[in-house]
Amino acid sequence: MFARNVAVIGTGYVGLTTGACLASLGHSVVCADSDRDKVDRLRKGQVDILEPELADLVADGTAAGRLTWVTEAGAAFEQGTRPVEIVFLCVPTPMGAGGLADLGVLEAVVDEIRTLLPPDCVLVTKSTVPVGTGDRITQLLDREDVAVVSNPEFLREGTAVHDFLHPDRIVVGSARQDAAERVAALYARLGAPTVLTDGPSAELIKYAANCFLAMKLSYVNAVAELCERVGADVVDVTEGMGYDRRIGQKFLSPGPGWGGSCLPKDTSALLQLADSADFEFRLVRAAIDTNSRQHKRMVDKIRLAVTGSRTGSLSKVKLALLGLTFKAGTDDLRDSPSLAVAALLRQAGADVVAFDPAVSPADDRLPLAVASDAYQAAADADAIVVLTEWPEFRRLDWPRLAACVRTPAVVDTRNLLDPSVLAQAGFTWSGVGRPARA
Ligand code: NAD
Repeated sequence: MFARNVAVIGTGYVGLTTGACLASLGHSVVCADSDRDKVDRLRKGQVDILEPELADLVADGTAAGRLTWVTEAGAAFEQGTRPVEIVFLCVPTPMGAGGLADLGVLEAVVDEIRTLLPPDCVLVTKSTVPVGTGDRITQLLDREDVAVVSNPEFLREGTAVHDFLHPDRIVVGSARQDAAERVAALYARLGAPTVLTDGPSAELIKYAANCFLAMKLSYVNAVAELCERVGADVVDVTEGMGYDRRIGQKFLSPGPGWGGSCLPKDTSALLQLADSADFEFRLVRAAIDTNSRQHKRMVDKIRLAVTGSRTGSLSKVKLALLGLTFKAGTDDLRDSPSLAVAALLRQAGADVVAFDPAVSPADDRLPLAVASDAYQAAADADAIVVLTEWPEFRRLDWPRLAACVRTPAVVDTRNLLDPSVLAQAGFTWSGVGRPARA
């Protein structure tokens, strides 16, 4: 294998994983991030995101001299004796005005490095960017010798290192076949199927895949609602669906709505892209609408559990929320459905106290009280609401929780808990798409 000199700009979930994993594959990687404190912590081997194996890879890469850290993107090209050959852009592309992807940071970085990039290097977009961004970067660069390549990332938070090193596929797109092949060769040791294509197709693959996942989740949430109305059990229904290999068991569990740092912004960006191409992408629109409805539906379930009516008042009702992150196994709170449901509950006058194993009670970014354990959150609660599928919630001492609460009621928006265990502890239980247990 050819070891390459690589630069990674942006060391968040995607950039840090990319840098640490490429170093573990033998490449020399310099990582740049404009957050000086984060870079200082990384230099000391401190990784401040919750990702299994990442801190070990960072420590190993740093100790082996294959992973170095700088604060200015431009400084990434001054390091080492051999010039950087491949540069990855891993900066945020959040949802901007009107639902469009905000490319402000990405374009600012391109502007910052355009004259500093070493001759004949390849500039790779790993950030999720709308179709046409590669062409826009080529224009901004205005450098004949630098090839622009799209290499979208498909890792999942919570399993980022595993996903990077065992990808389902690698996608590389460019108008320059030679440059695309150089990028694909970085991953050769992983033995993953590789799709070599043009830039716009690579950019679209990422959005088309994420929107398909969002539609699958909205579909299963709608099936769960139908189950409730016709007296079916969604757990059995989805098990029966999932054995069909064309459907598969994954992404088939109903919940309080999908969220996280990618699906909401990517569905919105694809809608805008379709719009600009004069195409009304109704399936994606319906998935987004079904999702906002799902948050409200969870609030109605809570009203029913606490007041006996889907329209009952939640004023002064005390609720213990278990789980704030958008899924288990991550500390990421961006666009979490738990926070959307919590906001609706607060608007309805409820007094909410949350507990999440990955969120510190001292975290002052949140507009709600965070307890240091589930028992503290449950003190005098009128209901306990499970919002994130942390497996440790299954192992809580439910008889002890029954002694903490005012009313022993659980609304389980993830169908995480065993209703019979709760019944033994004296709780009523209601889930999503399943018959309630008194
Ligand atoms: P993040 O917010 O975790 O990390 C972004 C990093 O970029 C931060 O460390 C930030 O300090 C740094 N940064 C911001 N401005 C900078 C600048 N001017 N120069 C240098 N560094 C700068 O974001 P993320 O979750 O890693 O996402 C990055 C991109 O990857 C986004 O486009 C996202 O859509 C895409 N993506 C994310 C995931 C995911 O699961 N998080 C998965 C696939 C793709």
